[in-house]
Amino acid sequence: MIFTGEISLKTKGDGEIIDITAKVQKIVTDAGITNGIATVFVTHSTVGITTVEFEPGLVADLDKLWERLAPKNIPYGHDAHWGDGNGYAHVRASLLGASLTVPITEKKLVLGTWQQVIIVDFDNRPRSRIVIVQVMGE
Ligand code: ZN
Repeated sequence: MIFTGEISLKTKGDGEIIDITAKVQKIVTDAGITNGIATVFVTHSTVGITTVEFEPGLVADLDKLWERLAPKNIPYGHDAHWGDGNGYAHVRASLLGASLTVPITEKKLVLGTWQQVIIVDFDNRPRSRIVIVQVMGE
């Protein structure tokens, strides 16, 4: 069976990281399947998704990584095109990716002890965000 759920979030932007593990697990539980996969997909072009050990040191490390990979203070073609000033946010989101697939066994997401599912909102202002969780299994 296939079950599709949705997570709505208000974010601050500017690289804010939000742990959505419990919300994804809730949708898996609601789906009522025992074994399968969950695809978690962000429907936005300035948000990325991955897994981390969600602790302040690593959050700071990731902030520095984004700045090294796609600095805020260099020219972007996107900004020249739209003038919305968030070219760096689009580039960072594209690098991180928009989806994550997590196996499900015995009704639980298969995650490591120190592994959380997070989204990163790279945009340059607070936003309302939707994350789609599609569960497939039996
Ligand atoms: Zn933009």
